[in-house]
Formats: sequence, structure tokens, C-alpha cells
Amino acid sequence: MKVAIIGGGIGGMSLALSLVAAGVDDIDIYESAPGVRELGVGINVLPHAIRELTELGLLDQLSAVGIPTADFTYFSRLGQRIWEEPLGLAAGYRWPQFSIHRGELLGVLHRAVVDRLGAHRVHTGHHLARFEQPPGHGVSADFVERETSAPVCRVEADLLVGCDGIHSVVRRALCPAEGPPKWNGVVMWRGATIGKPFLSGRSMVNIGSSRQRAVVYPISRADEEKGQALINWVATVKLAATPGMPPQDWTHVVRREEVLAAFASFSFDFLDVAALIRDAELIYQYPMVDRDPLRSWNSGRVTLLGDAAHPMHPVGGNGASQAILDARVLARELALQGSMAAAVAAYDNERRPATAALVQSNRRAGPHRCQDLVDERAPSGFTELSDVVSQQELQEIADDYKQIAGFEMEELNNRPSRSVGLATP
Ligand SMILES: Cc1cc2nc3c(=O)[nH]c(=O)nc-3n(C[C@H](O)[C@H](O)[C@H](O)COP(=O)(O)OP(=O)(O)OC[C@H]3O[C@@H](n4cnc5c(N)ncnc54)[C@H](O)[C@@H]3O)c2cc1C
Repeated sequence: MKVAIIGGGIGGMSLALSLVAAGVDDIDIYESAPGVRELGVGINVLPHAIRELTELGLLDQLSAVGIPTADFTYFSRLGQRIWEEPLGLAAGYRWPQFSIHRGELLGVLHRAVVDRLGAHRVHTGHHLARFEQPPGHGVSADFVERETSAPVCRVEADLLVGCDGIHSVVRRALCPAEGPPKWNGVVMWRGATIGKPFLSGRSMVNIGSSRQRAVVYPISRADEEKGQALINWVATVKLAATPGMPPQDWTHVVRREEVLAAFASFSFDFLDVAALIRDAELIYQYPMVDRDPLRSWNSGRVTLLGDAAHPMHPVGGNGASQAILDARVLARELALQGSMAAAVAAYDNERRPATAALVQSNRRAGPHRCQDLVDERAPSGFTELSDVVSQQELQEIADDYKQIAGFEMEELNNRPSRSVGLATP
């Protein structure tokens, strides 16, 4: 079976590795960019996705670069503690949760692809322009040079998987009437700043509410070993009036004054967010966008994966994690089902409803809802948290999200592996 993977991001690379592990190795990755560039800032990969990457043999490589985040705390806008819990191994999961530079994660995946498949299978400078499925044949895909639209080549495959991100050309072909991603009026500013370790040194904190928040965590093992921390931060503001969506470009840099002005009050005894913003080398801006869930990801020999299939608000660290889960399920189904049609149908049946529920949950703030409750009920702060929200209510919000996102601990620790041929964990 010849598989054409469109997009060499986290989803595309994870799919290539998952297919090789499942015994499918006639695979080519077509990436629009001229090289596999290690771009981005920090992201989180949750224990369910780290389980999959561990089973692909990547735990040591990830441990060498990422931080196994140990604890998480929600604070109110005034810096009052609302909820805290251990994460990853510290919580009892059999796999860690990693906070990691997106570029370094992509680097780990890319090197493994080159080792296992060969560099000649990663075709950079190949931007998918269009594809067709002639009756009785496979899929033909035409690639161009992204900037000039000059033709590059035409390839034939048995299966084409669109892992081409939120602006997916493959998705547009499947749903031509869909239009651009939906913006919820939230602007995200992102940066990474060298600083001192805070709280436990492997902590993640989320301060504020849906109106304005900062999410902060260290992401670099190399800096930790030097006794310092590369601290990733995301500062978000819900704009009262929406002047028009900011550019959807992960590399769009903005002036720091605007961000500092909005977050001047975010200076607390446990963490000085304003100082992190002041000292960041570069600040990137991106709008918080997603798309409505689709009724199907499949059309004949074509399917979608990762952000192309289910772009979601970046709540709770699920963008990369869900792409990795998609990859493992699609590879397993292709290895086990009797036909390609049955495999992509089984993949769609398992992953599409699960990720649709997450898209909807993230629109309602997902696990961050606990902060919104405190913000609504005690806008000037509280003396006793229990006067504002009960522990039971907080626990239910946390538990619900784990269930929806698929990382409830007992279930994850005990469910069978997705590796083909391995029935037990
Ligand atoms: C440059 C970049 C930086 C990012 N930085 C962050 C970050 O700092 N924090 C965060 O939370 N998320 C970030 N993301 C998004 C995050 O990587 C995804 O939400 C998540 O990992 C799911 O990955 P994906 O592979 O589905 O999509 P993506 O990571 O978006 O990867 C899609 C890939 O497809 C390629 N592509 C697009 N169109 C075509 C085409 N027509 N033909 C061939 N290839 C194509 C893109 O160049 C890209 O490499 C970033 C994405 C990109 C592309």
C-alpha cells in the first residue's frame, strides 16, 4: 500500500512512524515548506500521547529535550489559588506529560522518520495544489512550489492523508463551502524567556480566566540542567470589540509594549509574568481559531488527520496530542482491517466523534471553566474558596475533561496497546 502523507508537521511525522511500526512502509511525506524547520514555541504532550510515542520507541529522545511536568495550578486573575493537581508520572500515570518546544518535538519525530524510512521519503518544497481520484484507480496528487505555484510533480498513491494543518488544502477539497477558520475574539501572545525555575521547577500554572489569562511552564531540559529555565508563556486577551482577525501566522511578531500594557498587573509572589513578557526575545501573536466538526473525514481514498481534521482551541494541551492519537489509530486500522475502505471508516468512527466532543468542550473553556466560575462569582477575590466553589464542582470539571480528552488515568494505564500485535499494555 502506497501512502502519501500531506504535511510534515507533528501529525504527518507521527503518522509516518506509526505506519512503519504497523508494517506499512511505502510512505512518502510531502511538506510545503522548503525544509523541516523547528518552528513554534512550547506545547504540551499529554500522557495518552506520550504513551503512543513511547510505544514508538521515542521516550528517551523526548526525555532528553522536554520537561516532564509534575504539577499544575489554576490561579485566579488576582493570583489566588483555585485548584492544583499532580501531572504525569507524579499523578500516577505510567507515562509522563511533557512540556516541550514544538520545534524540538518535531525534530525528534523527523530524525526518527529519517532513521526508519530514509531522508529520501521526506519531500520538502512540495505544496499540494490539488488531487483527484480517477474511477478504478488510486489518488493522483499535484504538487507545486508554494511561493511561485510552479509545478513540481504529480504522484500516485493508494491512500492520501491530509495532515496539512488548519488551512488544509485536502479539507478544502472535501468541504469546498466551509470558508476560513472561526475566530472567538481571543488574541494569543506567545514567547519563551530564560528565567529562574518557579514553584516546583517543573510546574505549569494558569492564571486568570477566559477574559484574560497567562499559561506558563518551563520547556527545556538543557536549561534545567544548567540550573535555569526556558519558560514558555502564552498570554491571552478576549477583545471587547473585534477589529478583524489578526494574521494566522505562527511566526507573526508583535511589539512588546502592547502585551506588557495588558499584563502589567500579572506580577505575583510565585511568578512575575510581566517580567517574562518584558524579557522575552520575541513575542508572537496568533488568533484563537478553530473549525466546526465535520460529518466525515473521508472521501474514497482520502482522509484527514490532526489540525486538518479537527483544529481546536489550544485548551489543555490537546492540539499535538490528538494528532498523535489519530496517527496511531489510523495506522492500526490500516494494518488490521481487511480493506482500505474499512480501515478509514473505522478510523473515522473512532476519532471523529472523540475529537468533535473536544472541539466543543474547548469552546466552553474545557478544564479552565473553574476559573470562569470564580471570576463570575467572586470578581473581587475571595477569603475562603469554598464560599465560591465547592471541591466537588472543581473535581468534576477536572475529571470531565480527562474523560472527554481521553486521558482518564485508570483507563489509560490499563487499556490495551494500539501497537499492532501487542494486546496488553
Ligand atoms: C510553523 C508552526 C508553528 C506552530 N507553533 C505552535 C506553537 O508554538 N504552539 C502550539 O500550540 N501550536 C503550534 N502550532 C500548531 C501545532 O503544531 C498543531 O496544532 C498540532 O501539533 C497538530 O499538528 P498538525 O501536524 O496537525 O498540524 P501543523 O503542525 O499545522 O502541521 C501541518 C504541516 O502541513 C504543512 N502544509 C500545509 N499545507 C500544505 C500543503 N498544501 N502541502 C504540503 N504541506 C502542507 C505545513 O507546512 C505544516 O508543516 C504550530 C504550527 C506550525 C505549522
